[in-house]
Amino acid sequence: MSRKQKTRAEKKHLSDVAALGCIACRRMGYGETPAEVHHITSGYGMGEMRDDLKVIPLCPEHHRTGKDAIHVSPALFERRFGHELELLEQTCSDLGIYRASFVGGRV
Ligand SMILES: [Zn+2]
Ligand SMILES: [Zn+2]
Repeated sequence: MSRKQKTRAEKKHLSDVAALGCIACRRMGYGETPAEVHHITSGYGMGEMRDDLKVIPLCPEHHRTGKDAIHVSPALFERRFGHELELLEQTCSDLGIYRASFVGGRV
């Protein structure tokens, strides 16, 4: 497995994403809950995105500990908050990042 150093830009991206606040909480109208980053597990197929850019902000409850946490019950999470790739797109647009490769041909 790769042990490459994170670049400064990657570190900044991770902290920018976390700073957005939990994306699931924002969808529920709970406001910006302090978040940690979740690495998207769904593939884009070609590996065209760097792993450290495939992250969305989730609070610990929506990430790991809640009944509808993405690591606890992915199906329930997806039904409530949307597919993680959809949330990734929203994260990118929240950050003002528009890259054709992020949407991978989906409209
Ligand atoms: Zn949350
Ligand atoms: Zn995660």
